[in-house]
Amino acid sequence: GGRSLVRKAAGIAFEGWDSTTSNILAEVEMEEEPPLGIHRTALGIYAFGREEYEIHDGKIVFAKEGPVGVMVPEKNAGARTEPTLGDLRDALIAAFGTDYGLHRVNWISRFTDMSRQATAYRKGRVLLAGDAAHVHSPVGGQGLNTGVQDAVNLGWKLAQVVKGTSPEALLDTYHAERHPVAARVLRTTMAQVALQRTDDRTEALRDIVTELLGMEEPRKRIAAEMSGLGIHYDLGEGHPLLGRRMPDLDLTTPDGPLRLFTLLQDARPVFLNLDAPGSFDIAPWSDRITLVDAGYDGAWELPALGAVSAPTAVLIRPDGYVAWAGNGMQDGLQEAVNSWFGPPC
Ligand SMILES: Cc1cc2nc3c(=O)[nH]c(=O)nc-3n(C[C@H](O)[C@H](O)[C@H](O)COP(=O)(O)OP(=O)(O)OC[C@H]3O[C@@H](n4cnc5c(N)ncnc54)[C@H](O)[C@@H]3O)c2cc1C
Repeated sequence: GGRSLVRKAAGIAFEGWDSTTSNILAEVEMEEEPPLGIHRTALGIYAFGREEYEIHDGKIVFAKEGPVGVMVPEKNAGARTEPTLGDLRDALIAAFGTDYGLHRVNWISRFTDMSRQATAYRKGRVLLAGDAAHVHSPVGGQGLNTGVQDAVNLGWKLAQVVKGTSPEALLDTYHAERHPVAARVLRTTMAQVALQRTDDRTEALRDIVTELLGMEEPRKRIAAEMSGLGIHYDLGEGHPLLGRRMPDLDLTTPDGPLRLFTLLQDARPVFLNLDAPGSFDIAPWSDRITLVDAGYDGAWELPALGAVSAPTAVLIRPDGYVAWAGNGMQDGLQEAVNSWFGPPC
């Protein structure tokens, strides 16, 4: 987690920015019905909701009864004590003039926009992933996604190093690939926090960003960024697929249709041959790479990037990212297999 004792004990710096905003999040019992929904006020953004809801005509309709989920901004960021029912009551009264008969707190918590990142994801035998490596505002819902992708990036590399099929240097690609990704997440969330301010000038800026997001290209780019689908690891020059997430293609095989992502469920590398069967020779690695001969006639479309040319073969890492893509030649294939999955036995 963000306060990682392991990170501190390893002496890894956690650099970045202190919080500028703080919010209390709680589940409470109230005598009166608060105005359910999200409210932008001069004091900040307030939200009330219930766990049970339905969607009618694209709108959320909350249940009439049950505990209420509340989010309120705090006046000052950087509080060191745990939030209390009293803090929540004060914040509600400041914005709405009432606490809606708040009388019980089921749970209460606080989150801020503190934005920090570990300067090193690896120090010897210590490896950081998830919030231990990066914290930021939850706006946009990117934290868990980023942390899980850290773990998936690291898992197969650790396994290969532990098994001795790859040298320890493979572990250094973990920091090289994942550190820039979280650095961008920090940048995006800091920008989103700035856009959440409720003063007139920020409202004007929000209007302009909203207009931009009405346009195809900016919308696709920001969506790819926030969903994590646009991640591009710098694996050098080559086919546009190189270093990008392999699309989940509907393949045809002699045994029938096959969805590409099902091939990744074994957490092993996959060599997808879309050329004539036997066109590529990866026999020396057959103990660790699954070879699949298949056909695909559809378009190759990547998030943010759009249409790319069809490759004749793709080497896919266990985390779903493309380690090599060919256009009829085997150039660079052996080097890619060696560097990612170790030399043949
Ligand atoms: C309000 C809010 C909304 C969010 N919404 C989203 C969202 O919609 N989408 C999204 O992707 N992300 C979201 N996130 C972020 C997401 O919750 C975190 O990124 C994610 O939980 C981090 O997971 P983690 O396992 O790295 O760390 P944590 O979830 O913090 O887990 C760390 C664990 O380690 C334990 N621990 C700590 N110290 C010790 C110790 N010394 N010994 C033993 N155990 C210890 C802790 O108790 C904890 O259980 C949100 C966060 C917040 C605050």
